[in-house]
Formats: sequence, C-alpha cells, structure tokens
Amino acid sequence: MSSDQNILENLRNELHMHTHLYYVKDAPIISDYEFDLMLKKLIDLESKFPQFFDSNSPSQRVGGKVSKKFNNVKHEYPMYSLDNSYSKEDLDNFNTRIIKKIPNSDLTYLCELKFDGVSINLTYENGLLVRAVTRGDGVQGDDVTENIKTIKTIPLKLKGNYPKKFQIRGEIFIELNDFNRMNNDRIEKGLDTYMNPRNTASGSLKLQDSSEVAKRPLKCFLYQVVSENDDSKTQYENLISASNWGFNVSNSFKLCSSIEEVFDFIKSWDKKRNNLDFEIDGIVIKVNQIDYQKTLGFTSKYPRWSIAYKFKTLQASTSLISVSYQVGRTGAITPVANLNPVLLGGTIVKRASLHNEDQINKLDLHLNDHVLIEKGGEIIPKIVDVQIDKRNLFSNRISFINKCPSCQSNLSKNESEAHHYCLNFNSCTPQITGRIQHFISRKAMDINGIGNETIQLMFQNKLITNYADLYTLKKDDLLNLNRMAEKSVDNIFNGLNDSKNIPFERVLFALGIRYVGQTVSKNLANKFGSIDNLISQSYEELLEVDEIGERISQSVVDFFKNDNNILNIEKLKKNGLQFQINIRNNVSDIFKNKSFVISGIFQNYSRDQLKNIIDLNGGKNLSSVSSKTNYLLAGDKIGPSKLKKANDLGISIISEQDFDKLIKL
Ligand code: AMP
Ligand code: ZN
Repeated sequence: MSSDQNILENLRNELHMHTHLYYVKDAPIISDYEFDLMLKKLIDLESKFPQFFDSNSPSQRVGGKVSKKFNNVKHEYPMYSLDNSYSKEDLDNFNTRIIKKIPNSDLTYLCELKFDGVSINLTYENGLLVRAVTRGDGVQGDDVTENIKTIKTIPLKLKGNYPKKFQIRGEIFIELNDFNRMNNDRIEKGLDTYMNPRNTASGSLKLQDSSEVAKRPLKCFLYQVVSENDDSKTQYENLISASNWGFNVSNSFKLCSSIEEVFDFIKSWDKKRNNLDFEIDGIVIKVNQIDYQKTLGFTSKYPRWSIAYKFKTLQASTSLISVSYQVGRTGAITPVANLNPVLLGGTIVKRASLHNEDQINKLDLHLNDHVLIEKGGEIIPKIVDVQIDKRNLFSNRISFINKCPSCQSNLSKNESEAHHYCLNFNSCTPQITGRIQHFISRKAMDINGIGNETIQLMFQNKLITNYADLYTLKKDDLLNLNRMAEKSVDNIFNGLNDSKNIPFERVLFALGIRYVGQTVSKNLANKFGSIDNLISQSYEELLEVDEIGERISQSVVDFFKNDNNILNIEKLKKNGLQFQINIRNNVSDIFKNKSFVISGIFQNYSRDQLKNIIDLNGGKNLSSVSSKTNYLLAGDKIGPSKLKKANDLGISIISEQDFDKLIKL
C-alpha cells in the first residue's frame, strides 16, 4: 500500500469509529466540528486520489447516487412474517407447542421489542456492507443499498471478530421527535403532513435520490444475524456479537426462563412504551437456543420458534358531535372532528384531526357516528374506524363545506392538492392574523415580547391590519390594551427593533408566501440577492432556479402581483428591515481582469452567491478550467478532473477562506 493510500485508509477507519461512537454508542469523543473537519479532509484526499475510491467510505454517507429503478433480488433466506398473539392464553398455547417438541429444562426465551418500522436485510462480506434489500414479499425484495448507506446507525465497515460472510436483519424507523419536526417543517411550507412514522420511513427507502434519503432522520435497530457461519449458540449471544461488531442493537432485550417471566416483561413494556422515543407495536418472543430453533423450523409463513405479542393500540370509542373547519394562514381548510370527551392513554380527548375531504369520504362519516379513535405518533388522535351498525338511520352524511367558515368566500380545490383553500387573501380574518403570527414566529422575525394572543388583541382593537403595521404602533395604543403593562410594551418595542437585524432570507420567509418555507427562502435570497430583484422575476425565470418548481414559481408571482403585499413590503423597507443579502454586494473592481472557476460545495456561500460577488466586483465567471483561468475556487467534493487540470496548468487553487481574504483586501 502506498503511503497516500495508507493515510486515506487510516482516516476512513477513524471516521468509521467516530460515527459508531456518536450514532450507536451515543458517546462521542470528539466535537462535531472536529468530525466535520476530518470528513472534509477525507473528501479532499479522495478527490485528489480517485484511484483509491472505496464504495464503503464514510464520504459515501451523504448520498448522491440516483436509482431510477431498484433491482429485484431474491432473498437467500426468506424473510418470514411472525405469528401473532394477543393474550396470556395465546402465549400459553405457544409455550405448550414448544415444550411438546423441546421438553428440555434448559429451554429459555429471548424477548425483544417489536420495532414498528420497515424491515431490511443486510449482507456483509469481509466486514463490509455489500447489499441491503427490503423485505418485499418475503421471497424477494428491492435492492436499496445506496439509500441504506446514508443511515448512520448502519455500519459500512465492521470491527471485531465477525464471520466472513453473513446477513443481518433489522428495522428502520423514524423517532417520534424527528417525525414531528419533519411535519412541522411541512406545515410551514404549506404542504400536507405525513401520516405516521412507519409509512414515512418506508417511503424514504424508495426515494430515487439517495442524497434526499440522507436528509431523512432514519435510524436502524438490528435484531437477528442470519448465517451458517456464526458460532453463536443462542439468540442472546447473537445480539451481543452483533453489538460487538458495531451494530446498533437495542439494549431492551431480556432472557426469560419461563412463559410467566415473558408475560411480566410484556406487561412492563405495555406501560413503558408510551415513554419511548420510537414506536413499538409489541414484543417478539424467540426461543433462545439456536439448536432448538433448528429443530422447530418454519411453517410456510412463520418460524415456529418465535411469536409476536401485539399490544392493543391506544384506542377508544366515542361519538362525533360535529365537524368544524379551521382556516390556516395560507387559506388551507382543515376539518376537525369534535367528539364526546373520552379518556385515551391518560388524557381526555375532545377533538380528532380529519386531515381533508378525502379522509372524511373514506370514512363515510355521518353526524353522531360512533367512532374509534387512535393515538399514534401524532399529537392529535385520529379517527380510524366508524361503527356503521350503530349508526342512526336518519343521521346526515358529513359533506365538506364549500364556503369559508370565516369570510364566506367560495372555496377552491386543485385536482393535485389535498386541501381546499379560501382564496380571500386580503380580507379573510384567520388568514390575516395567521400571517402576522407567522411573521413574528421564532424561525421568522423572532419578535420577543409578542405572542399569538397579543396579535389577536391588537387585531381586534384595529391597531394592526397586517404585519407591516407592527412597526408603526404607538406606545399609548398598546398601553390602552387590556392588561398591558409598561414593561411588556417596552419589550414589544425592543423586540421589533431587534428584528431589523434579521437577515433577508428570514424576512422573505416571514412574508408568508405560500410554499416558500425556510429552505426555499434561503435559495431565493441567495439567488436574487434582493427583494426588488426577486419581484422583477417572471414565472419562467423563477422556474430556472434549482429546486423551484411550477407551484412555487406561480405562488411567488401571485404574491407580488397583490398590491397589498407590495405596500406592506414598502412599509417594512421604510422601517429598516433587511431586504437584501448582507454580504459583500457593494460594487468594486478588485477582480478586474480576473477570471474564476467555481467547483464543489461551500460552507458559507451558495455557488450563486459566489458568482454574484465575483460579478459585482468586476471579475468573470468561467465554467471550465483553461489557461485563461486565474483562480479555481474549490469547495468540498470538487470534481477531480477540474482539480487535475488546474494543477497541470499551474492555476492557483483557492479555498472559501482564501476567497474571503481576497474580497476583504
Ligand atoms: P409482521 O410484519 O407483523 O408479520 O411481523 C414481522 C416483522 O416484525 C418483521 O418482518 C420485522 O420487520 C418486525 N420486527 C420488529 N422488531 C423485531 C424483532 N425484534 N425481531 C423480529 N422481527 C421484528
Ligand atoms: Zn376565508
């Protein structure tokens, strides 16, 4: 091995180790910053030495490969389902069946949590992940290796004393916190929320672009080594070994020597499961000894040596009093079921979400229906079933409203969208107050001292009719409002003042343009630099921006067509809010006669920003390296061919930091 290759290998191994310590052991020994630096160094080296490419390198975790179609692969060992049990009696029957075949007194059971996600089968050869296949129909599944490599709790390279070739099975899931965060993000963007963590995890594995998968907060618990080459004598040893080889094994398993002990374990988790960070739908009971497992074998569907105990989901039945309709800040209408109060998992439930018209139709919901509600990962429970046999013959079917409950405008619905919308942007009250509330929210203008109730109060008292009015409020007006103390009023004015330093991308987000969430705002701000420039763009020009599709383009154009919005923006501008990006966008000629090629990914700038700065300062942007190039501005993951050419031609290769120094000269 050459010394360059040696350095690369050592760096990769170190990064494998730190990933394991951070994601599996939850015990990092270096800071995130140090980790990022190391990874950056690795990526730099790998682009310098493309001949030492390694498909299991830690650099591969960011994804990037796009699979148009997933290959169907036959499982070497079929992925069976599990037989289900629901009561102590079912378990006793299972135990009796086992004892009949295995009367030995040393028989033990291993109990594990039944993680509620999607199963995956991983193949390792010589300690390297070589293939990841979904369960599919149990006989064959989809090869999703590239997507799986982005999941940090799945090792790409093993440690310790592993068999030369083996397979291991696990469950991929999304933690509840992460799931709620994803949905909040979507709500912000005016998108439909995901239904539950399991389907979202499952959908994520089938995304075509692996760099999109890398952005999803997927995790994996491994629970079964499947191999002829493994020395473990028991499932227990099997899990311990897997953990030693670097796999993420949940430490919640328990060895039990009787079915009574198994049942105690189940009962304890039935209570505790609501405190877990992830969802489980039961407990899996496995005969511990591998020899006994072999004796017991399989039916056509299930292993005979294992059974799942399914928890009753948190369900309750009650009746539907009425359906009310909420209007969001973007005009989206959300139906909500008002229920007769009922106790569910320790809290009294009075409302359930109904999502949209389709959902109501699917349930064929009628007034006063007896309904079954269920609490999943979401905060608000949902209606999962209607007991039609209990329905009153004359009760009316719920039909979706066609007028806005607040302003009575006709609602509109696009074929491709799930929600109905009230289009009365200018004078529908919940939309107006919703927009102001969005404007002051933490991720937008983050105005300390004002809460949602204060906004309602100000609006009702006609002190404000839009968010721009916030900046022309008078102290006396506020002091006259209910319960407003001098100190609270001072806080509001301080908060408003501070918000004048909030950068343009967040001001743009705060404006509340439909579909323009945080990421899109950032994109647009970087691309166009100022609100005036953005306003002057046509639908077609907007479409050309990365990640901006027809829906967003149309929404942006519509927003700026509205005179009220333009007036608000003018007023906000006058009051000193940031309406252009705050980097070196003052014009100079420091780059006169200098030409740049930009390649790779940068930490503090987008490529468009860099091009803008070069442009504004008299420089020229070129797309490929030639003898005419003065600088190659190199970021992460720079193309190796560009780098080589620049080296050959003796062109100066500068980093983002070097560039910063140049423009500050
Ligand atoms: P089912 O889908 O109800 O037939 O149950 C079988 C599935 O349970 C398997 O395919 C796994 O995806 C899942 N599962 C979750 N946790 C475990 C576990 N600890 N052991 C075995 N299977 C599990
Ligand atoms: Zn309305």
